[in-house]
Amino acid sequence: MEQYSEERQSVIDSAQWLLSQGYFGPELGTAGNVSVRIGDEKLIAITPSGCPYQNLVPDDICIVDFDQNVVSGTHRPSVETGMHLGVYEAREDVRAIVHTHQPFASILSIINEPIPPLFDDITMALGGGVEVVPYAMSGSVDLVQNVAKVVTNGCNAFIMQNHGALCLGATIEKATKNVAFLEKIAHVYYHALATGKKITQLPKEAVEMLIQLSKDKEGI
Ligand code: 13P
Ligand code: ZN
Repeated sequence: MEQYSEERQSVIDSAQWLLSQGYFGPELGTAGNVSVRIGDEKLIAITPSGCPYQNLVPDDICIVDFDQNVVSGTHRPSVETGMHLGVYEAREDVRAIVHTHQPFASILSIINEPIPPLFDDITMALGGGVEVVPYAMSGSVDLVQNVAKVVTNGCNAFIMQNHGALCLGATIEKATKNVAFLEKIAHVYYHALATGKKITQLPKEAVEMLIQLSKDKEGI
């Protein structure tokens, strides 16, 4: 029985569901990555780099410490491991991270368009609007720094300029669900923008109240 089997399996379950929904891009692609923190240890379970999600078994998932050493697993961890670790360092409340190349968030990523708070349920889940993280190359130290800076706003979904999306959660289930919330709102917002009509946003007081409500209820 492999070590950390529960966390490894939760990463596979999340990745395979996201793949089935088309959030990683083409069906056979290996875009995106998923990680989860392991208990109180400074360790994460993260998807290997460039491995098709359909065939993953728990042993394929890499266990990595906060200095990026692989402590268990034979594959090379995701090229975005530094980005995931940077978010965990910046946000104690975050226990799981999903990076995708989901279509509608990707459209907004190339027109550099943040999403304001528009609906009650999504604002509660995402903790406010969706900011755009400035572009830097995949796997680069600059990307790690750009992401670490923007996630301090406390929200749970981000667009990565000319790249894709990043969703966070207090559990892997919530981080995974936030991908779906982000795609729904990106889809709706894209079509609303295309009408050229005035878009109404939630009032500021409502946004503050919704964020507080979600914190009171269950954290992020
Ligand atoms: P990995 O396969 O190394 O996780 O890379 C995929 C990706 O989306 C890079 O941004
Ligand atoms: Zn990517």
